Amino acid sequence: MYDVLVVGTGPAGCMTAKMTAEAGYKVLLVEKMQLPREKSCSGILIKKSIDMVEGEFGKIPDAVLCRPTKNKGIIINDEENRVFKFESEGLNVWRNLFDQWLVSGAENAGVEFRQSTAVISCEEMQDHVLVTLQGNEIYHERAKIVVAGDGAASNLKKNLLKTQDSYIFTYQTFCSGTVDLDYNFFHAFMQPQLSQYDAWFNVKDDFLIFGIAVKDFNKIKGYHEKFLSFLASNFKAEIKSFVKGEVGIMPCVLPEYRVDLGIGRVLFVGEAANFLNPIGEGISSALASGYAAAEAIKSTYDVSEDVDVPALLNAYEKNVEPDKQYMIRQWKLLARISPKFSHLG
Ligand SMILES: Cc1cc2nc3c(=O)[nH]c(=O)nc-3n(C[C@H](O)[C@H](O)[C@H](O)COP(=O)(O)OP(=O)(O)OC[C@H]3O[C@@H](n4cnc5c(N)ncnc54)[C@H](O)[C@@H]3O)c2cc1C
Repeated sequence: MYDVLVVGTGPAGCMTAKMTAEAGYKVLLVEKMQLPREKSCSGILIKKSIDMVEGEFGKIPDAVLCRPTKNKGIIINDEENRVFKFESEGLNVWRNLFDQWLVSGAENAGVEFRQSTAVISCEEMQDHVLVTLQGNEIYHERAKIVVAGDGAASNLKKNLLKTQDSYIFTYQTFCSGTVDLDYNFFHAFMQPQLSQYDAWFNVKDDFLIFGIAVKDFNKIKGYHEKFLSFLASNFKAEIKSFVKGEVGIMPCVLPEYRVDLGIGRVLFVGEAANFLNPIGEGISSALASGYAAAEAIKSTYDVSEDVDVPALLNAYEKNVEPDKQYMIRQWKLLARISPKFSHLG
């Protein structure tokens, strides 16, 4: 019997796993992919993310950074081509290496880690959760508490809550070439002809990265082409070679915006819970919700007794409320810049 079984090695899952292991719980962390696994992401750590990671895991190593190592902030181009510059120092990481480093921090704290192992389902029993896993074969584990940090597409949440979430699809290409934009900033473009959400440009090592986000998956390539022509006409973009393209998903923050924090002994963290800040910044809220879940476990589960199940979810709700409010404030700020997001304005 594990005290805590954590699903997914994103920032949310790693944070909960490390903190609960450090507090003395018997923790199993499982990841369906083999590490280092790819996660489509711009890999910008804002200051809040850096502070949370360095507070729990220690200094972020140079080996996970890419050039320009320091991100100086974000430049937003609104619907009317007005420019809003928000300066703040962040870091530029490769997510596959960064997440692998988080996992090694969790293992050093005593977490047992299994990769190439997917959680297929969770069934709540009298005093534990029966978890079905698939590695080389299908088998079961038992845990007092499960923390699902399985990302935007969370199958565990879909199965347990029977919810139908809607998604934003992203497509970004890694290219070589030049463009007349400051490489030290992340650039977001809100013009509706360029995407159904936002379009962006950033740099990682020798790659220029051009991304767009849509609600309608079939329109991905069309919007991406329009974005590249827009950058060619307005910012002298010259693409010499196309290296790769990748698709990702994010939760679609809807007018009836809600977070799903859990049910019974299963807590949802990070994007599985619908945490996502504007312009697709989700690492800080993944870390914060992972932290809040760990604190909730620590305050409501004494291993000599059983888990106080109602208190667990209440504690998590209470701990994460400031982050939820912060996120809503951020969406409202964006709505003032871009009416596309005015449902939260
Ligand atoms: C194109 C793009 C750009 C982005 N850029 C940024 C950025 O620059 N900065 C930022 O802060 N945020 C960014 N984000 C958002 C950020 O990537 C996410 O918010 C963040 O990764 C969420 O973390 P998480 O821990 O909730 O889940 P994830 O990081 O998605 O991790 C989930 C993990 O669970 C694993 N998993 C899934 N199902 C199972 C299962 N059944 N069993 C076992 N394992 C499972 C997955 O393989 C994965 O490793 C971006 C997102 C996209 C799509």
